[in-house]
Amino acid sequence: MIIADVTFIGLGLMGTALARTAIKAGFETVVWNRTPEKVVPLVEQGARYFENVAKAISESPIIVVCVSGYDVSDTILRVPEVEAALKGRTLIQLTSGSTRLARNAALWAGAIGVRYVDGGIEGYPATIGKDDSMFIISGDEQGYQQAQPLLRTLAPVLHYLGDDPTRASAMYSAMLSGSFGLIFGVMNAVAICEATGISIEQYLQVVGPVFKTDIDLVTEMAQKCDEDNLDKTEAYLSVWNETLVPIIETLSDGGCNTELPTLMHEMLNRAEKEGLAKHDLAALIEMIRPGKTDKI
Ligand code: NAP
Repeated sequence: MIIADVTFIGLGLMGTALARTAIKAGFETVVWNRTPEKVVPLVEQGARYFENVAKAISESPIIVVCVSGYDVSDTILRVPEVEAALKGRTLIQLTSGSTRLARNAALWAGAIGVRYVDGGIEGYPATIGKDDSMFIISGDEQGYQQAQPLLRTLAPVLHYLGDDPTRASAMYSAMLSGSFGLIFGVMNAVAICEATGISIEQYLQVVGPVFKTDIDLVTEMAQKCDEDNLDKTEAYLSVWNETLVPIIETLSDGGCNTELPTLMHEMLNRAEKEGLAKHDLAALIEMIRPGKTDKI
């Protein structure tokens, strides 16, 4: 018998934030977690808890899963008793994973009669339910429509990318790839500052405004790749490449790790050898596109 609106499987840092937000918004909520102690505060806020995961699933039409990986999700869900409970329900997979994992999960769900929706969460647990909280979603459209009021409560900025279940994880990887680039770059910058006696406060004061210019720059570079307009530029790829040398030397002189700029320098050296020296820096895309794996 269905008694609730949604069941949350996985109450780690993110799963707890999702369930807490749903409860607060008035959704009848069931929770399940491997470590049962984590359900206590949520039960105090109004959630119901069932020790048996199949029972917890059978209580709601919508099941949200948010655990540490698809392997963990499979361990929990791909059990005959649980698969039987899932039949006819909508499964929202918010665990981060690759396109391959999303495709496999959708095939499995289709075979057992489950509407499969895959999603990626942008932001930290504290942002869940806030105005700028964002989910990237794709998969079964009927399931998405059914879960939309819940999803919009958790993340008002909702991007549904269509019924291909792999789209969300592809977009999520694309999004995180940009974030990682910036994070790794700025951590190198922090190391340079520490090694050379520049305070982080002064670094942020001087360089902070440049972050905004960088966003314009990378936006333009992505468009250049799309338009295949890589040969016109105001600064040659070779000129950019030379500026990696002082970065590597300064890090090295400060006793810091130089792996990241060294890898970038090696990639751009190969790009120059491929005839891209006088192109825009965005031409480094040619070192990443298919067919270049052996050169990296
Ligand atoms: P977490 O705090 O480490 O929680 C992991 C969850 O997985 C817990 O519920 C844990 O259960 C469960 N789990 C792990 N191994 C298990 C097993 N063998 N059997 C059953 N359950 C198991 O991780 P999180 O931060 O909530 O992240 C969950 C997902 O959200 C990840 O895919 C992550 O990439 C994504 N995400 C997180 C954030 C973030 O800021 N935290 C942001 C965006 C996306 P126990 O409590 O029993 O250990």
